[in-house]
Amino acid sequence: RAVFDQASGFQLYRAILSDEAHERLILEGQLHEALQGAGQLELHYQPQASLASGRIVAVEALVRWRHPTRGLIPPAQFIPLAEASGLIIALGERVLHTACQQAADWQRAGLPAITMAVNLASAQWAQPGALVATVRSALSSSGLEPQWLELELTESTSMHAPTTTIEVMKQLRKMGVHLSIDDFGTGYCNLSYLKRFPVDKLKIDRSFVSDITTDPDDLAISRTVAAMAHQLGLEVVAEGVETEGQLALLAEAGCDLIQGFYFSRPLPPDACASMMADRATLPPWRKEREQQTL
Ligand code: C2E
Ligand code: MG
Ligand code: MG
Ligand code: MG
Repeated sequence: RAVFDQASGFQLYRAILSDEAHERLILEGQLHEALQGAGQLELHYQPQASLASGRIVAVEALVRWRHPTRGLIPPAQFIPLAEASGLIIALGERVLHTACQQAADWQRAGLPAITMAVNLASAQWAQPGALVATVRSALSSSGLEPQWLELELTESTSMHAPTTTIEVMKQLRKMGVHLSIDDFGTGYCNLSYLKRFPVDKLKIDRSFVSDITTDPDDLAISRTVAAMAHQLGLEVVAEGVETEGQLALLAEAGCDLIQGFYFSRPLPPDACASMMADRATLPPWRKEREQQTL
């Protein structure tokens, strides 16, 4: 390997590529197995707090894979694989059932009722019959009332949505399920589709939130999105809120809910339940600001 020539360079490159392909194949097989059994795929829950009350009004279910040898794998490392292999359908079904069951269990345990938000992949929207059937069965087997379930579709999914997707969205909405647009602002920003879409919520993407205290453009965008969403009768969630400074500006911009590490990281079920049981509220940032102006 010390001596580089065209041929061996090429060989080495091929070896790396096939290692990666091999790796993917192994991981795919293991994901397939994980989906057969119980226990390896878990959901963590990230609270969303209302800026009006400071309280938890919703949680977003975020999947993690507790791999037998690699530890806890974040979704970015296996959702794309699941999408490419078609395993996303089974995974999505598992996630929906688990999340609905969890929300119903928490309500039965006497915790304050909250909205359970679940991410859906494009491929799930591409099989409308299966999606509606899965949502129905997740609701009926858990006993969760549909009004407590919210389905998130990303802006890019919704941008490329054929009319059948809109029909499915309407059908889900008729069942009483809520819909939200995730990562808003990262797509092509064709605002006219918002009018056609039967959604309830917009989630302003983290990329606008992260620099909001230093980038006046990001603040202007957040204000405009919030104002427009309200005009359309939608609620606005800010994603990825990490600091009190960001929170203050987003509140001023008119956001209704915040989600991010500042309030809470995604939590395992028990930790999330404790937070709800403790009636956790946002740190009293309002008071501090009021005191500053006295
Ligand atoms: P997302 O739906 O936009 O979820 C928010 C992501 O931002 C989560 O990453 C969350 O942990 C992270 N986050 C939240 N607050 C903060 C913050 O203050 N700072 C920073 N830096 N990050 C924050 P996570 O859990 O790694 O999930 C990544 C993505 O994977 C999700 O983005 C979603 O697109 C996808 N995903 C997660 N669970 C599922 C699932 O069950 N099904 C499908 N189809 N996709 C999922
Ligand atoms: Mg999401
Ligand atoms: Mg997002
Ligand atoms: Mg910027």
